[in-house]
Parts: sequence; C-alpha cells; structure tokens
Amino acid sequence: MNNSSASAASGSVPAASTAGIPDILIIGAGPGGYRAAEYAAKQGLKVVIIEAGEVGGTCLNVGCIPTKTYVHSASFAEARERMDTVIPQLRSGVEGILSHPNITLIRGKASFASPCSVCCDAIATNEPIAAKNIIIATGSETKWLPLKGLDDSRVVDSTGLLQLDTLPKRLAIIGAGVIGMEFASVFNRFGSEVTVIEYLKECLPALDSDIAKRLRKTLEKRGITFKMKTAVENIADIDADVVLMATGRKPRTEGLNLEAAGITLAPNGAIPVDENFCVTSLSAASSGSVPAASTAGLYAIGDVNGRQMLAHAAEMQAVRAVNHIMGKKDGIRFDIMPAAIFTEPEAACVGPTEDQLKNATVPDASPAGYTCHKAFWRANGKALAMNETEGMLKLFSGDGGRILGCHAYGAHSADIVQEVSTLMCKHTTIDELRDMVHIHPTLGEILRGAVE
Ligand SMILES: Cc1cc2nc3c(=O)[nH]c(=O)nc-3n(C[C@H](O)[C@H](O)[C@H](O)COP(=O)(O)OP(=O)(O)OC[C@H]3O[C@@H](n4cnc5c(N)ncnc54)[C@H](O)[C@@H]3O)c2cc1C
Repeated sequence: MNNSSASAASGSVPAASTAGIPDILIIGAGPGGYRAAEYAAKQGLKVVIIEAGEVGGTCLNVGCIPTKTYVHSASFAEARERMDTVIPQLRSGVEGILSHPNITLIRGKASFASPCSVCCDAIATNEPIAAKNIIIATGSETKWLPLKGLDDSRVVDSTGLLQLDTLPKRLAIIGAGVIGMEFASVFNRFGSEVTVIEYLKECLPALDSDIAKRLRKTLEKRGITFKMKTAVENIADIDADVVLMATGRKPRTEGLNLEAAGITLAPNGAIPVDENFCVTSLSAASSGSVPAASTAGLYAIGDVNGRQMLAHAAEMQAVRAVNHIMGKKDGIRFDIMPAAIFTEPEAACVGPTEDQLKNATVPDASPAGYTCHKAFWRANGKALAMNETEGMLKLFSGDGGRILGCHAYGAHSADIVQEVSTLMCKHTTIDELRDMVHIHPTLGEILRGAVE
C-alpha cells in the first residue's frame, strides 16, 4: 500500500468497519474501471465497483466496439444487426470478469460523501461506502460546441448516430477528428452522401500532416466532400438529413460531488493526476490540514483525467494505479502511446509528427536532427495481392538511429505501427530493425522496406 492509502485504513473511517472496508472502490466500469477491478482482484485486493450504466463503458457500448462493427459490416442493415449480437456478447464477458469473488459490482450512480467515502443512489439507506483507495474512472462525454440551432432534431452525437434505424441519405459531420473521420468513411461506404466540415486546414491534427492530407485525398476520391477551414455558426445553414457533432469529448465529472473529496478540476474540466494517476489537485481538506489518516488514496484513470482518451490508455493507467496502491513498480511507457484511426484505409501513429520534430517541439527531437524513412503500400507484394495499394509510412529516427516514431495510412497500418511501438519500448535502432527478419509476403515488410 502507498502511504496515504495505508494510513486511510486506520483513519476517520469508523474503527469497527476498517477491517471490512474495500481496498479499492472504483467509480465506472469502462475499460479503465473494469480492468482496474480485474487486476486488483487477481492480486487479492477487495474491490467495490459502481456503474451507472452498462458495464464496458463508452468503449464497449457506444464507442470502439460498435464503430468497429460498422467498419467490418458490408451494409448499414448488417451493421445494425451485428451490433445487437456483438455488444451483448462482450458485455457478458465483462460481467464474467466482474463476478470474481473479490469484486462487488453495484449498479447505480456514485458521488463522493467525503475524501474517503462514496454514496450510491442504488443504496436505499444512502449510507456512504468507505474505501482505502478510490479510483475515479467515469470516462468522457460529447463536447457540444455552442452553435446556433443545436436543438435541431437532425443533430446527433456519435451515440445518436449509432442508434439511427435508417441510413441517412445526406450526412453532414462537424469535425474531422478521429470520430468524424471514422464515421465519414463508413457512412460513405454504406451509401450516404457525406460532407465533413472542419475549422482547421487539415484533418486529424495528431497525425503527421502529410499522412493526414493523403488520407483525406483518398477519402475525397471515394466521394466524401471536405469543407476545410470552415466554421459552422448555425446548424440551419447545413443542408443534410442528419448532422453529426464530432467536435471532441470532455471528461465526465458531473454529479460526482468532487468538492466533498476536495478535488479541483483543471481548466479543461479534467481531474489532474501525476504519473501514478494519483489526483494532484486536492484541497487542504483532503491533502493534509486534517489528519492524513482521514483520506483515501485518490486516483483518476482513463478519459476523465484528459491525458490520452483511448481505451488501451485507460486500461494501462488502471494497471499503473493498482500497482501504485500495492507499492509495486512497473515499466509501462505512457510516453509511447500508439493510436489508430479506423477509416478505410486505416491510419495509425506513435510518437511525434514530422512537423513536431522539425520544430523541435517534442522532448525526443534531437539536436542532431532526425531522419524520415518512407515506404509505400504499392511497393509491397502482399498489398498488391490484396488490392490495397493505397498507403504510405513515415518512420522517424534520431540520434544513433534510435526509432522516434511512425505515422502511416494504408491497410492494417495499425498493426505495423504496433510493431514500431514495441521496438520503441526496446530502444531499437534503424540498423537493428534492418537486421530483423519479416515474414514474406506480409504488410510487415513495408516497415523493413522503409529502412532498406
Ligand atoms: C465513437 C467512439 C469511438 C471510439 N473508438 C475508439 C477506438 O477505436 N479505440 C480506442 O482506443 N478508443 C476509442 N474511443 C475512446 C474510448 O471509448 C475511451 O477512451 C474509453 O472508453 C475510456 O475508458 P474509461 O474507462 O475512461 O471511460 P468509459 O468507457 O467512458 O467508462 C466510464 C463508465 O463510468 C460510468 N460512470 C460515469 N459516471 C458515473 C457515476 N457517477 N457513477 C457510476 N458510474 C459512472 C459510465 O456509465 C461508464 O460506463 C472511442 C470513443 C467513441 C465515443
């Protein structure tokens, strides 16, 4: 146990109950919350997890899984049908995980009663549950821009779009970020007339601008209209049957009564945390002016801390937080966080963009500069055989040939970027990569081709 949590067990929590109080109380059973519960329970810790909606969170119910089911369905009708089997199947898998004897799942909405206890509306007596450590894993929600006409019935967010029963003839998407681009790609393939309206000059700002531009051009050729450098002011000006608001997500903290825990939010609405995902913005009440023994170890993992809004980031943050609670060290590299965009073809990245390296705006930018190694899908045998010739990869190396990152678009680029991510964790150099055998014929050879 870390110091704060160890002392919490003997603090203002009634002495009689300390033996029975859970080691960890988790708010939210998305990828962050259920992974923390599973990992902690397997280590022998007693866990209570409170979930207001369906287990699996945004990712399983209205995020990663439904959208990827759409990507891998031939038609809108098939996608709707498959969602009805895929999601319940995965949800029952998570319920299975949470049925571990060390885990108590409570279905209800949680809010803080004090820095070391939480109320749940499903508990009739409203008696707070005290815990030695509390992990906040409440995720994020759609960020609505304050546009005129938002009450227009045509306007939906990603959850609303997934609930449509009929394919919209004309779909307008506000925002060319990950969610906007993925839906643009899939609804275009289903047969909708898709227009993407974006304020910035390029789509997908986290992706290398060269790669992002090529991907946009590819999608343009498939019939998607992009209106770049265009600000929407009034929904009434948009000529479409359905308007998707895809202008980002914000941490979900409403109703948590964070004041009772002494937690102050950052200006972007996120819960500030340190490298172990311990909450850092604690007021005096929870950080020391009252005896330290009255506080629980407070953690915030996943989208709610606003760090990296990705399901795999939430899961790894869960592991780190539980390790910290147990006083265990790990080697998780949160600075190496691969991400993918499941358009067709897909795009993926890890590490800095070329613009960031050029302008030395990232810690990895070495004074000696960087080298960009390129490769193309059209020069790869497997890609040609698959008729997937659209794609380009940029691999960056720095001092001593150390791999700094990779940005790519093309079929299965996420799998290739995953390999680069693993190589980066092992401090691999370009020379070492050149010596690594890749199976022929595979798309993996594109990576080795970049350094030949
Ligand atoms: C359309 C879409 C597509 C996406 N695709 C991908 C993808 O392909 N890959 C990827 O990595 N990420 C993707 N994401 C992001 C991913 O879904 C999130 O990063 C991930 O779900 C975050 O996990 P989390 O555990 O932090 O929160 P969530 O999954 O949001 O879970 C939080 C849970 O907390 C519960 N909760 C909230 N408040 C309370 C409360 N007061 N009491 C009790 N319970 C509460 C909620 O009901 C919810 O179940 C996508 C997101 C969207 C919207």
